[in-house]
Amino acid sequence: MKFLKVNINTAAPRDPEASILLIYTGGTIGMVSDKDDQHLVPFDFSEVIHRVPEMRQFKVMLTVLSLDPPIDSSNIEVEHWIKLAQIIQVNYQDYDGFVILHGTDTMAYSASAMSFLLENLSKPVIFTGAQVPIGRMRTDARRNLITALEIASAQRSGKPVVPEVSIFFNTLLLRGNRSTKVESRHFNAFHSGKYPQLAKAGIDIEFNRSVILPPPAEPLKVYQELESRVAVLKLFPGLNKALVEAILKSEGLQGLVLETFGAGNAPTYPWFLKLLREAVDRGITILNVSQCEEGEVHQGQYETSFYLKEMGVISGSDMSTEAAVTKLMFVLAQDISQQEKACMLAQNLRGEMTCRI
Ligand code: ASP
Repeated sequence: MKFLKVNINTAAPRDPEASILLIYTGGTIGMVSDKDDQHLVPFDFSEVIHRVPEMRQFKVMLTVLSLDPPIDSSNIEVEHWIKLAQIIQVNYQDYDGFVILHGTDTMAYSASAMSFLLENLSKPVIFTGAQVPIGRMRTDARRNLITALEIASAQRSGKPVVPEVSIFFNTLLLRGNRSTKVESRHFNAFHSGKYPQLAKAGIDIEFNRSVILPPPAEPLKVYQELESRVAVLKLFPGLNKALVEAILKSEGLQGLVLETFGAGNAPTYPWFLKLLREAVDRGITILNVSQCEEGEVHQGQYETSFYLKEMGVISGSDMSTEAAVTKLMFVLAQDISQQEKACMLAQNLRGEMTCRI
């Protein structure tokens, strides 16, 4: 996997107010029509200034890295996340903020993964993308890119205003590990129903400072490993035993995100509970998140979740599936005991969940 430095044809500002590293990974944002106007193809990122001439007005020193070749975000892999975290680590001291251009389809997963890989982040890492390619007239790419750059450069009393991994899209700045893609046709593609927005961009950008993570006391710590042998099982009425068995007994499985009903409820069919219990006993970590857009898991409130609690399934509280999958990957890669992993999963690590107890 290669990231290349892209020379963009812009004069360096005389008194730069900030320096930003812009990392282009691909997705719709960087697409233009090919010569025959038949297909969308990734554009040459060195042309970004022609497409977004407003960027010249910024008093920002900009460096651009581009994944070569750029990818559709459906093809993002754990290795890309590790590489992005390494790029931020290597460049951390030299930049005030980082903007990552990424396809929208898996952006919430990538932003969640980055939030776990980057502990004690004191600078902004802002993901953005577009619903309409940069080469189309009604593109949202320009506005998203410009506002993301503005937010990444925003400082107050010499400190970044948003020292966390977030997603800026359309008008909203959302915590990365609280976001979900909810729209594939309209511009408001992301939503974080269980956590307030960090900022809203109108005529001005209004930051909601009380819900932004405070700057950390400790220095940045970058992790380099994720456990990818995890699965997601979304429950539905009429769930088939052979399917559940195939997932839980798949070779090497280390962890499972169980997407349950309502406040964390699951069927109490004896075969289902038996399969889950056996999996937990074999050392598979199971994390319970709800299919509901709002509210949280409360294991034990109903009989249909009491059994889960009793066998050692961990409550994911109000975590999104995207956050749960990447948190599981992150925690299971740690060199700690099974019990410590369970404790870590139940704790709020990066603002991804609300802990009521
Ligand atoms: N398929 C594209 C991607 O996620 C969609 C987008 O960028 O919005 O890469």
